[in-house]
Amino acid sequence: MELGQSSHPRRKTRRIMVGDVPVGGDAPITVQSMTTTRTADVDGTLQQIYDLAMAGADIVRCTCNEIEAAEGLARIVPRSPVPIVADIHHQYRMALAALEAGVHCLRLNPGNIRKPEHIKLVAQEARDRGVPIRIGVNGGSLHPDLYKKYGGRVTPEAMVESAQMELAYFQEVGFEDVKISVKASSVPLMIEAYRQLSEVVDHPLHLGVTEAGPVPGGLIKATAGIATLLAEGIGDTIRYSLTADPVEEVRAGRTLLESMGLRERRNIDLIACPSCGRAEIDVIEVARKAQEAFGDREIPLQVAVMGCVVNGPGEARDADLGIAAGRNKGHLFVRGQNVAVVPEDEMVDALVEWATYIHEHGVEAALERARSTSEAARRAAERDRADLLRAKGADANRSEQRVEVIRRL
Ligand code: SF4
Repeated sequence: MELGQSSHPRRKTRRIMVGDVPVGGDAPITVQSMTTTRTADVDGTLQQIYDLAMAGADIVRCTCNEIEAAEGLARIVPRSPVPIVADIHHQYRMALAALEAGVHCLRLNPGNIRKPEHIKLVAQEARDRGVPIRIGVNGGSLHPDLYKKYGGRVTPEAMVESAQMELAYFQEVGFEDVKISVKASSVPLMIEAYRQLSEVVDHPLHLGVTEAGPVPGGLIKATAGIATLLAEGIGDTIRYSLTADPVEEVRAGRTLLESMGLRERRNIDLIACPSCGRAEIDVIEVARKAQEAFGDREIPLQVAVMGCVVNGPGEARDADLGIAAGRNKGHLFVRGQNVAVVPEDEMVDALVEWATYIHEHGVEAALERARSTSEAARRAAERDRADLLRAKGADANRSEQRVEVIRRL
């Protein structure tokens, strides 16, 4: 399957621009996150924005909850490496202040800015400045009238109606530069709301499971909701709402898009075997150290950490680079071919060094580099493989011995 393909073709949406980042249409699906600093703290907020951008955020949102925050935005916007969205709740005046600060997009919650004249005033001002708005419906703060209308429950229909009501106010003043979200903390609810919304509007959709919570539960909930919709071709920009460092939100978002083939790989894709009775190393620890060593380095390769040389190189033969543990040493392989043998405590360093080399010079150059040593590396791997098979047998689970014991019970 080609990059960007999925079982369902991507739904056609209109394209809007958030600063210089396109959202919707055939633009790449973008990753967003939100700062956790006080926006009035300009240096602290900028530091976090840079951290998020380094991790792969395309767009960053900051709260604009007080006049000092709007003043902070005026200083943050010109120094930010990515477009800034101002998050507005309750006070339409903060939306006007954020526009004055030069933000690239607003997020309005229709559940808590309710007066039509205020909504239209903000939309007019955004229209005149060419700034898009996200209509950010949230299941937890639905307009009270809609809550009542739908029997005191938050339903997908109520959330979609909330978005449409807001959109109608915008349309009254000729403003359509809009993206929409209908987030809920319930995964089935948000999935259904987005499905229904995608049937009735062609605006770009911002996906998220709100208040997903801490990892690992939050990651799983957010992935369940966002990935389900993306696989159906729904969604133009995503945000993981985790109770964690926002950098983790960005890493999660990038990883999801890359693993679904919806974005080009940017960093290392570290794959590792789950380990088993054959493992000659602590796979979890080596994989953790490798993850840490690569960090956010922009090396778009797939790197494998495998616990044994018996099955490792074969199982990870499609990886660009990998290491499989032998007796006190690691067998490095490039696209399944053994290229070097390194001491166990140098495995991670060797991975980083070879990954950097492949990134700079290509796989063929790496294989050429190893030409003089690869035959010796292959023979060493063969020896280790044979030794391990002798020591542990072809049956790593010792099934027959276990069966004998079980029969005697
Ligand atoms: S057989 Fe080897 S590579 Fe496969 S899970 Fe076990 S240790 Fe890992």
